[in-house]
Parts: sequence; structure tokens; C-alpha cells
Amino acid sequence: MTATYTPGTPCRLADVPHWDAETDVLVVGFGIAGACAAIEAASAGASVTVLEVASTWGGSAALSGGEFYLGGGGGTPVQQAAGFEDSTEDFASYLRLSGGPGVDEERVGLYAEGALDHFRWLQEQGIPFKGTFLPGKWLEPMTDDTLIWSGSEMAWPFSAVAKPAPRGHAAQMEGMGAGKVIMDLLAERALGLGVRAEFDARALSLVADTDNAVQGLVARIDGQPRFIRARKGVILCAGGFICNQEMLRRFAPEALVAAEVPTTGGNDDGSGIRMGMSVGGAVSHMHEFFATKPLFPPDNMVRGIFVNQRGQRFINEDAYHGRICRYILRQPEGRAWLLMDNAIFARPDFRPDIDIAAVGESWEEVETDLGLPAGELVHTVERYNAYAEAGEDPLFHKHTQWMQPLVEPPFAALSFCPEDYPATGFTLGGLTTQPTGEVLDVDGQPVPGLYAAGRTTCGLPRWGEGYSSGISLGDGSFFGRLAGRTVAARPAADSDSDQAA
Ligand SMILES: Cc1cc2nc3c(=O)[nH]c(=O)nc-3n(C[C@H](O)[C@H](O)[C@H](O)COP(=O)(O)OP(=O)(O)OC[C@H]3O[C@@H](n4cnc5c(N)ncnc54)[C@H](O)[C@@H]3O)c2cc1C
Repeated sequence: MTATYTPGTPCRLADVPHWDAETDVLVVGFGIAGACAAIEAASAGASVTVLEVASTWGGSAALSGGEFYLGGGGGTPVQQAAGFEDSTEDFASYLRLSGGPGVDEERVGLYAEGALDHFRWLQEQGIPFKGTFLPGKWLEPMTDDTLIWSGSEMAWPFSAVAKPAPRGHAAQMEGMGAGKVIMDLLAERALGLGVRAEFDARALSLVADTDNAVQGLVARIDGQPRFIRARKGVILCAGGFICNQEMLRRFAPEALVAAEVPTTGGNDDGSGIRMGMSVGGAVSHMHEFFATKPLFPPDNMVRGIFVNQRGQRFINEDAYHGRICRYILRQPEGRAWLLMDNAIFARPDFRPDIDIAAVGESWEEVETDLGLPAGELVHTVERYNAYAEAGEDPLFHKHTQWMQPLVEPPFAALSFCPEDYPATGFTLGGLTTQPTGEVLDVDGQPVPGLYAAGRTTCGLPRWGEGYSSGISLGDGSFFGRLAGRTVAARPAADSDSDQAA
């Protein structure tokens, strides 16, 4: 009978018929974390093989905006050139709050202390940062500028704990999608260092001895199971699990309902996490996810106010779009509308055909059209207009920069309800690891031979309400590098040869 291999069950060492190939370090996934792990491991002199299920490198990172969340140390050269100072303390305070309940203090400390060096390293890999700042509210730069406000830095409660500074460092490229620029450069760098890449190669299951010490893995290459031995260790960098409906049902049912459209390259099937769990790896924050229904650009959208189906506000609208989305999702039935008057009326650039659920010459008409309880929306707008006149939002602390009374008819309500504007997103939970990459079991002990980084782990970004653009590429690249260095420094298990997979 032909054996079947699945991520949830390790192949026992005794069942390996032969090794098809050997390498020091075996990396699963050629996205941001995998590429950075491979570069560091190869730079340290290890032989490295990367398995990638797709036909080329990149993963979600190649589809991304190419923003890294960086700062501290007085400011990166890009921040300084734009006139922003950024202390390590402020950077760490921001990251601590954005990590939410269960924040990993050690990881935050390492990242805040090391971000400036990491920025230099990214430059050394050839990633271009032009060094100019693009003011306003953006998802990613549409110009070739390389610094933006990419989180909730200027918005309450973040602005109350850390001096704001823009930290979204995007690779230089005219228009959106700089992730492709980054991944092409990192992949070329890795291959130039002698890293072997196998494409159309799906990691199926880990190979482990009876104590769950990882020895390698089984991969499907050319339609056949291949047994690849890892003399120093396996690093799982296979992304998250937003594409795996069964895992979402079990671990993140809110994400299943909320993030209807996965924001990924399509291979985030949780195979990396399941492989780690199969040998006793613990998981954390599996219910957490990033989701968005982008409202800005243009900036004008931020001058509107969100109400739920009780006609009540629920958030400061100047917060990061992902934080706003998570607040929308937890309103009754996930229903919310953005109210705008004629003076500020606009549509989101990313949703130009957004459903305008109600229009009226008065807020009473809009309230009636939306079928909201009589007087509630009208009361909310009246209170908001009074706060805007007074220059203070005592309820949600929206910055006065974004507040103006909504008094010029006609008035409109833009629908952010699930049926009109589905959210997109990805998961944030994953394997529990040391910042240096070791996968930990339920007792907090390292699983021998197993390491992980990126969205396969529960890393720096672990709270949807605190997410900022750039944290995922920042986390994946920074901790991917650490994992690569950690594994390369391990003694190699005895071997006969070093063959290509
Ligand atoms: C449109 C978009 C914009 C984004 N913008 C940003 C941004 O500007 N900044 C930011 O920080 N984040 C951004 N993100 C999120 C970010 O891209 C991801 O969170 C990040 O790439 C995760 O890194 P990773 O290395 O864990 O996974 P990936 O980069 O997705 O790499 C994982 C790789 O593993 C491969 N793989 C999976 N399973 C297997 C298997 N069994 N065997 C072999 N290979 C496997 C996948 O094919 C993939 O290539 C964006 C995402 C999208 C889609």
C-alpha cells in the first residue's frame, strides 16, 4: 500500500525508506520569512534548501505593499530625512500596545532595539528606500515615496502612549505593490549565496523520531514523495491559515465569517502550523486575524463618522483601517455606515462603487432610510457636530484635524455592511516560538530540530485591533533572519553527503 503523508501526522524516521537528499538547513516556503532565513543561514556557511509549493518565490510578500514597520534609535535615515525623530522607547511602547493582550515583551524589545540595524541590512540586500515622506492617509504609497503613516500612531489610544512617528517604510517603486521588488531582490540574493530552491515542491509532513525530534521532511516533488534530511534543522515559513476553511472553523471562526476574501498569495493553508503541531508544537492567538475594508484614501473619508445599527458611533475614525474594520465586525450583525455631508463627500479609492445606502436633505431622512431607531442617528450627529465645533471628541478622542461639523446637505450613508463591502484578511495566530525561532511545545520546551518564522508563528503582530501595515513584513524578515542564524549555528547531525534535492 502506498503511504500517504499529511501535515498533521509526522512520518516516523523508521519509515523513511532512504534519503533522497540532504542539506544543513531546510526551509519551507520562499516568502519573506523563508527568504530572510535562507540568506542568513547561507551567509553563516550552512547549506540551505528552500522548498516552495508555488512555481516561483514570493508568497503573499510578493503581492504586498512592500512596507516594513521600522523606527526607534532616534529614527531611521528615512525618518530623519523627513524630519521625524523616533526614540526606541516610543517605538517599543507603540509595539507593546499594538501587540494587545498577551503581547510578547521579549520580541517587542528585540525588534525595537534591532530595527535600525535591520533597516541597514535590508538596504544592504539592495532594497531601495528613496527616503521621502508622503503625508496623508494611505494604504501604501501610490508614488515612489518610501515613508508613510501606516498604523494608528496619530490616533488615540496609541498617540497617548507613544510620541507619533510615521514608520511605514516602503520599497521605492512608482505605484502600489512594492512587495514584488523586495521579493525579487531577496530571492536573487539567496540564490546568489548558493541557496538551492525547489519550486512546485510541497512539504507534506515532517520526519521525526519517536521523541518527536525533527530530522527532515517528506515533500512532493515531480509528483513523487521525496525524503529530505535536514542535518541542522527545518524552518517552517509557510504562511498562515486563512485559506483553510476547516482550520478557520476550529481556531478562528470569526475570521471565517469576517475575512471573506483571503489577503494572501493563496497557499496559506496552515500546512506549516499543522506540521509543527504534529510533533508537539504549541500554538497561540489562533483566533486572531487582520481584516480590512479600506476607507481611505482619500483623506476625506476620515472626516466622516461611523454609526452602527443603533445609530451610535463606536470608534475614532482616524484610526488605522484594520482597527476600524475589527470594530465594525464586532458591531451588531457587523453592520456599519460611514456618514458624510456634501462638504466632505467622497468614495474610497479601493471601493469606488461603494453602496450609498441612504441620501437625504436632512439627517432624519438618512436615519429613516437606514431604518434606524428614531432619533438615535440624529442625536449622534448633533453631538458629534457640537464636539467638532468645540474641537474635542470626549467619546472617542478623534484628532481635531479630522473633525468638522457635518452640516451641509445632502447627507449620505456609505455602506460598510457585510453584504455590500466584504472584508479581506489573514490570520495572526500560529506556532509558539522563541524569538530566535525554536518551536516550543506545550511545556515551553523546544521541539528539537524545528524552527519557524513569519505567519506560521504567533509573532509580533498578534492582535487584529492593533495591527499596522508593515508589521508582518517587518516581523517575518527580522525573526526569519534570527531563525536562519540560530539553525546555522547548530551542530550538524552526522551525514554521508550533501546532495541537491
Ligand atoms: C495585497 C497584500 C498587501 C500586503 N501588504 C503588506 C505590507 O505592505 N506590509 C506588511 O508587513 N504586510 C503586508 N501584507 C501581509 C504580508 O504580505 C504577509 O503577512 C507576509 O508575506 C507573511 O510572510 P510569510 O513569510 O509568513 O508568508 P509568505 O510571504 O506568504 O510566504 C509563505 C510561502 O510558503 C509557501 N508555502 C505554503 N505552504 C507550503 C508547503 N506546504 N510547502 C512549500 N511551500 C509552502 C507559500 O507558497 C509562500 O510562498 C500584505 C498582504 C497582501 C496579500
